[in-house]
This record gives sequence, C-alpha cells and structure tokens, in this order.
Amino acid sequence: MKVTVWNENQHEKTEPRVTELYPGGIHAYLAQMLQCDDIQCRTATLDEPECGLTEEVLNDTDVLIWWGHMAHARVPDEIVDRVQQHVLAGMGMVFLHSGHHSKIFRRLMGTTGNLKWRENAKERIWTTCPNHPITKGIPETFTLDAEEVYGEPFGIPEPQETIFISWFDGGEVFRSGCTWTRGNGRIFYFQPGHETNPTFHNPYVQQIIKNGVHWVCPVEKNLPLTCPRVTALEPISSPCK
Ligand code: ZN
Repeated sequence: MKVTVWNENQHEKTEPRVTELYPGGIHAYLAQMLQCDDIQCRTATLDEPECGLTEEVLNDTDVLIWWGHMAHARVPDEIVDRVQQHVLAGMGMVFLHSGHHSKIFRRLMGTTGNLKWRENAKERIWTTCPNHPITKGIPETFTLDAEEVYGEPFGIPEPQETIFISWFDGGEVFRSGCTWTRGNGRIFYFQPGHETNPTFHNPYVQQIIKNGVHWVCPVEKNLPLTCPRVTALEPISSPCK
C-alpha cells in the first residue's frame, strides 16, 4: 500500500514546541509511524511545487493523509480539484484534526466543516462500533489528558458511520471518528491531533490512524470517471418508436 502524508508544515517553522514533539514535522512523524512491510510512505508539504501533490504522486497514492490548520487558503483550487478527482476515482483519504476546515474536506463534504472549539481539556473517546475494522485493538473508551476541544454541532453531512464519539471535560461532545464514501473513494475523519499536544504519540491514536489507512485503502484506484453513451448488450425485444 502506498501512503502519502500531507502536512501544511507551517506551525513547525515558528513554534519550537511542535518540532520538539514531532521532529522533522508532523508529516515525518506520521510517515515513520506508519512505515512497515506492507505500507510504503512518502510525505508532501504545502511549500513544495504543486503542494507536493502532482498527478504523478497522486496516481501512485492509495491513501492520502491530510493535516492542515493555519494555511488552508494557500492550497490552490486546482490542487483541490485534482485531489477530489482522485478520491472519486478510488483514492482513500484520512483527515486528521483541523483538516475539517481544509478546502478539500469541505469540497468532499459539500458543507462548512464548522464546529465549536476551545483550548485543551481532558478528552474521553468512546468507541461506538466495536466490530468495525477501524476500532480493532481499541478499547471501548480511553482518554487523552489534554486535547483541543471540538464541539457539536459539526457541519458535516450525516456520516456513513460514526465510529467514535468524544466527551470533553467542561461539557462538549463531538463526533470524533466518521466515515463517508465519495464516488469510489473512502474517507475517514479523526478529530484528535492538535499540533502542540503529544496526541500522535498515543498508542491507541496511532492504531486508529493505521486502521483508518487500511480501511480507506481502495481495492482499485484510478478508476475511470466517464459517462459514456453505449449500445444495447442484446437485441432489443420491443424497440421504442
Ligand atoms: Zn488544533
């Protein structure tokens, strides 16, 4: 399986706390975490030509992971168009944390991606689908000591599956793990992962991202997106006049 980890890589340039937690950037950390015998990982970042997401790279990507926050607007619309076409043709996507406001997430959802937010609080994550491939190896519930609070209402279309629900100390609840299918492509959104928190070091969070990558991985990618006029397969018994 070929995975491309995309990170805008902007906080890393100004906030030492982020590279303390994730040396080389969140993209490098996630790629190294995912790399194994059956996963071949590459990274791509905003400041590379074409955001690192050329046709060649996307043609060779089964699953694209997306982390972005402060620079969503700097992703050119033509890159958003291109990624959307690849999802429709079968490429899987995993959106992490503030990826909910990326242009490509909002394009694929057709909604705002808006939510409520505030600074860190304790988060309790509940598994709502205990027999789903994404929750394999994950307990019914676990906590993160400090994660950015996201709260409902979340501006998304009704998910295909809501796999995790979170409660935050102070009262908010949030649909923290959701899936959708768009065309031939599968999508998984997972909420934890603020850049100044050690969330991606958590073994359950890592397992969920790995499981998510496997779940969205297509049987076949780059399927044709055509709308052809055809002739009948068999003689027509009662032709219309
Ligand atoms: Zn955040």
